[in-house]
Amino acid sequence: MTNYHTHTYYCDGSSKPAEYAREAVAAGFTELGFSGHAPVPFSNGFAIPKEKLSAYCEEVLEVRRSFGQSLKIWLGLEVDYIPGITSSFDSFRQQGCLDYLIGSVHLVKPAHDDRLWFIDGPEKQTYDDGLAQLFDGDIRKAVTAYYQQLGEMVTTQRPDIVGHADKIKMHNAGRYFREDEPWYVALTQQMLEQVKEAGSILEVNSRGLYKGRSNDFFPGMTLLKRAREMDIAITLSSDAHRPEELTLGLSQARQLIESLGFREKNVHPFIKGYR
Ligand SMILES: [Zn+2]
Ligand SMILES: [Zn+2]
Repeated sequence: MTNYHTHTYYCDGSSKPAEYAREAVAAGFTELGFSGHAPVPFSNGFAIPKEKLSAYCEEVLEVRRSFGQSLKIWLGLEVDYIPGITSSFDSFRQQGCLDYLIGSVHLVKPAHDDRLWFIDGPEKQTYDDGLAQLFDGDIRKAVTAYYQQLGEMVTTQRPDIVGHADKIKMHNAGRYFREDEPWYVALTQQMLEQVKEAGSILEVNSRGLYKGRSNDFFPGMTLLKRAREMDIAITLSSDAHRPEELTLGLSQARQLIESLGFREKNVHPFIKGYR
């Protein structure tokens, strides 16, 4: 088992990198990836502060040395993409020490507006308020802005892994739109085509399930079925913010994707996945 999406105490996770590595060995992992939230140029409570980025890298590399052959450790970042605001993915690649980047959208920027819609986190109210204030309550306009931003990230930044691609559905929870509505299907289909074209790996993220915020993975079964038909590579992750979350939901994810016909093989020089 592997997991390439983990957050340590350098960002919004609970613990030191070594504690995740110990837990990973105990769980029988062969590989572990660290993906702290990359620094962003505004005050926030989730990302690695810019001045701590090199310490994060050094500490993960130190853990890699100390675990040696017993656990393959990869050093990465989960990078936010907000057009005109966040740094390019290449500026992080130029750090030199990073093995991979997960690209994610947590904050949606409407066109012609500098305010941001926070679509993640524990509170439905934040989602509802942003929808009302930034998109005049027009869910189709809001969801379209999310997928436009995600698609732009995939095509212009080419992340190794696309993080929780349909997270926009989490706080919808069946309230504003159904996932089988033609306009929504068209948006997700376009997103999958962009992922395929970029050659990125699509993450299957279990965090919503074990946090009780979603009754489905990100992305859910319908999208994964289409990803299989399109021969898009996937990787399973729990988006762990604590060592004890490293394995949560991964065996259910494995069952689901195997039932859809995915098979394990190396799909990336560093990242083991399914295709
Ligand atoms: Zn994320
Ligand atoms: Zn994350």
